[in-house]
Amino acid sequence: MTKNSPENTEKKRSLNFLEQIIEKDLAEGKNEKRVHTRFPPEPNGYLHIGHAKSICLNFGLAEKYKGLTNLRFDDTNPVKEDVEYVDSIKEDIKWLGFDWEEREYYASDYFDQLYEWAIKLIKDGKAYVDELDQEDFAKNYRGTVNTPGKNSPYRNRPMEENLDLFERMKNGEFPDGSKVLRAKIDMASPNMLMRDPALYRIKHATHHRTGDKWCIYPMYDYAHGQSDYIEGITHSICTLEFDIHRPLYDWLIEQIVDTEYRPHQYEFARLNLSYTIMSKRKLLKLVEEKYVSGWNDPRMPTISGFRRRGYTPESIRYFADKVGVAKRDNVIDVALLEHSIREDLNKIAQRVMAVLDPVKLVIDNYPENETEEIDAVNNPEDESMGKRKVPFSKELYIERKDFIEDPPRKFFRLAPDREVRLRYAYIIKCVSVEKDEDGKITTIHCTYDPDTKSGSGKPQRKVKGTIHWVSAEHAVNAEIRLYDRLFLKEDPNKAEEGKDFTSNLNPDSLNITHGKIEPFVEGAKPDDKFQFERTGYFCVDKDSKPGKLLFNRTVPLRDSWAKRNK
Ligand code: ATP
Ligand code: MG
Repeated sequence: MTKNSPENTEKKRSLNFLEQIIEKDLAEGKNEKRVHTRFPPEPNGYLHIGHAKSICLNFGLAEKYKGLTNLRFDDTNPVKEDVEYVDSIKEDIKWLGFDWEEREYYASDYFDQLYEWAIKLIKDGKAYVDELDQEDFAKNYRGTVNTPGKNSPYRNRPMEENLDLFERMKNGEFPDGSKVLRAKIDMASPNMLMRDPALYRIKHATHHRTGDKWCIYPMYDYAHGQSDYIEGITHSICTLEFDIHRPLYDWLIEQIVDTEYRPHQYEFARLNLSYTIMSKRKLLKLVEEKYVSGWNDPRMPTISGFRRRGYTPESIRYFADKVGVAKRDNVIDVALLEHSIREDLNKIAQRVMAVLDPVKLVIDNYPENETEEIDAVNNPEDESMGKRKVPFSKELYIERKDFIEDPPRKFFRLAPDREVRLRYAYIIKCVSVEKDEDGKITTIHCTYDPDTKSGSGKPQRKVKGTIHWVSAEHAVNAEIRLYDRLFLKEDPNKAEEGKDFTSNLNPDSLNITHGKIEPFVEGAKPDDKFQFERTGYFCVDKDSKPGKLLFNRTVPLRDSWAKRNK
């Protein structure tokens, strides 16, 4: 193959921009031809689908270029962080199918080193202790995008004084907010972040790992790049809003390097999903104010929520891949995520018949006390999953909405004097209905045609509708949770004036029904996945117990949402 053969250019074109950068770096022999990425969550909440995108990207690139990926907890803000979050993050990354082996790090492990480098900055005349309070600095010194800032009166204090004050900050002599350590860069820089950014702040708070050892904590910008450097990261991938931080990232690295090696920051567009909120602060509000049952509520866009909802790791990885890597912000249609899980479950899910809203159906001419074992296919997409027997008897349950007494045109299911096929079984005909005093149908009476059994080999007449059913005597009861999207608005962040995003919550995001399911599901265990024929994909909830089965709807078979909102 020549260099410019179609195959070659075709392959080049399909590389995303990060792959192009990496391939160029490798070709130029940068950083000893290493590819080392990291995923740096702050343990202040559970991971969401946006993080999943970042995880797949960082681990995926390292895998592709035979590199490494670190898991680094960016735990520099003791007030909001917690071990519960650390544990959940690890569980979620493992579940997604990625492994960081021993490469688990904590920014807090570098506090000593970061402190030493801060002293070096002071000694080099590149940092000073500022006593202006934050508000004063922001209002009166930092300037604006159009006007330069002016120097803090503390900017030129002698190095010894800075060293002494910084040490005393560390020793806990000063209250929160009374002093900060600032980098001495350029108060007139067009980039506001370069106008003497804070590197350390005082926070008398107990840290989940370092306890009370520290009462000064490094700021994100200072901790992040230096941590990348300590770990030998080559490609530090973050989301677009950090592009203006890059000059500061580079400046801070330049103050400490003593080799050719440099980590570099690259930015890509964060994942935004329609009908979904992804700020941890907002997700925390939903949890704390009990709009949902917890971080792993099946309606939450968290990885643990999707897991409980019945999503597979494969479907999320497939989705992350389809979304690709963009350089500009955009919004991905949540229908793509739903498509990803449908595709996967279609291949793997065991089929069963389940009636979500049951009404009794009696076959008047079927023998009393007889049970037939009807053959049913476990998964038409996968022959190796085989067949099962479904009990059939005189009394069945069918879906209430599969019968209409006075059917509109184009309704091809059951109605008076009409025929339908019972899936895998016989053709039946409705002969009468019983109602209660409110006019609600209590029993549908039918007759069946014994010559019409599916798979009997006999010539069959065609009927327009096929409906699912469950034998009343053999049915298993289950609580079924019908989940829908958590938000009604495509962009839930946009609320009417005076209201916040919670005003866009979908009041019907959860409907609970008590259904009847064929006995096959009796021993089903948490996380088992099924297609309930004609209704959707469901999984067994973690709180399900034998005798008290709980199912969560993962997705309906078809996108009812799109139809409703046409
Ligand atoms: P949030 O704004 O929701 O609190 P965050 O960016 O503060 O998110 P971190 O824990 O700092 O959360 O994120 C860890 C990594 O995940 C970062 O590298 C961040 O860029 C990435 N990340 C976070 N949200 C998204 C997203 N929506 N799409 C892609 N990557 C994301
Ligand atoms: Mg962050």
